[in-house]
Amino acid sequence: MKLKDLGEFGLIKRLAETISINDAQVVAGIGDDAAVIKVDGPKLTLFTTDSLIEDVHFTRPALSAYQIGWKALAVNLSDIAAMGGVPEHGLVSIGLPSQTSVDFVDSLYQGIKDLSDKFKVNIVGGDTVSSPQLIVNISLLGEVEEEYLALRSGAKAGDKVLVTGDLGGSAAHRLAGKHLSPQPRVEEGRAIVKRLWPTSMIDISDGLASDLGRICESSQVGAKIWLEKIPVSEKTRQMSEQLGEDFVRLALEGGEDYELLFTAQRVPELTSEMDVSLTVIGEITDQKGKLSLIDKERKSHPLKSKGYEHFEENRF
Ligand code: ADP
Ligand code: MG
Repeated sequence: MKLKDLGEFGLIKRLAETISINDAQVVAGIGDDAAVIKVDGPKLTLFTTDSLIEDVHFTRPALSAYQIGWKALAVNLSDIAAMGGVPEHGLVSIGLPSQTSVDFVDSLYQGIKDLSDKFKVNIVGGDTVSSPQLIVNISLLGEVEEEYLALRSGAKAGDKVLVTGDLGGSAAHRLAGKHLSPQPRVEEGRAIVKRLWPTSMIDISDGLASDLGRICESSQVGAKIWLEKIPVSEKTRQMSEQLGEDFVRLALEGGEDYELLFTAQRVPELTSEMDVSLTVIGEITDQKGKLSLIDKERKSHPLKSKGYEHFEENRF
């Protein structure tokens, strides 16, 4: 069997069966946005890693060195945010072709530095190797109070499904050959866990449909999403139209929006204190594994849990 037959998620499942986590300190291992470890003291430690690989996650020069550095840290911060946590310390490993200019590396590090300063993350080490293509891997430690920890696994039938910001913008920009620098929702994640007591949370890295599917899988529930409620900005709608793309599809499957998707039992006044908008887009059901999209006429369509997947041959 080849990796393309197994798929990224099939492979991770298989690896998870090989690795046995056998430690009372591990609160959550493989299967969430970050691992959760109980070390000492009242808070839980969060631990996550993500890589950006040239020609897989970005091409040069479409993404500048600065943007590559920024994004490599942003995707990790987004995973800490999805747990309700505060990021703390990071390690940066880079693989570089030997012809790379020093200016390029300086700029890449400036991108990492500006974002790490913004969120007060200390870069405490890393690794440097030569590589045929550019690779940036970042690992991050963070922390979260036990009562604020948000896992993917707690959604219950009747919970509302909410999302921060708007969706599809990243895919529309990518298709138009432009790039956005993702803004990880760290502060928003903290505000959500403190005020809305989410029953589950994930960051949207692969697309709403796919990442909602992961919440449903972990929580053993289903979900229905109201198509009209999916927040898509006017700019994204216009860009999609110019590109001949369906903005709903970009919002559902485009990925890389790095917004937070979460479920909550009650949705009190949708906090005007937060800089970013929050939108109720659907509801959790007890129909395990079933995702539906409800259109304007209230017709229900099956929603495939589809998004970006590594090893797939026909990529989005
Ligand atoms: P995210 O998109 O939030 O970064 P991923 O889809 O990359 O999450 O990973 C899903 C889960 O699988 C995470 O808990 C991650 O730690 C775990 N995982 C991914 N790759 C591996 C691997 N090679 N070995 C062990 N665990 C892995
Ligand atoms: Mg994630």
